[in-house]
Amino acid sequence: MEKHGHYCEVCGEYKANEKFSGKGHAAHICKDCAQLPPEEQAERRP
Ligand SMILES: [Zn+2]
Repeated sequence: MEKHGHYCEVCGEYKANEKFSGKGHAAHICKDCAQLPPEEQAERRP
C-alpha cells in the first residue's frame, strides 16, 4: 500500500495526513503553511 498522504497546495508537496489539521485538509494547506500569513501562502503557491 502506498503512502500518498495529502497534498498541500501552498508548498506543492504531498505530506502525511498528520501534517494537516481538519481545516487544513479541506483547504489543502498543511500545518506548516497554515501558520504563514495569507500573503505568504499566496506567494508560495506554485
Ligand atoms: Zn504546505
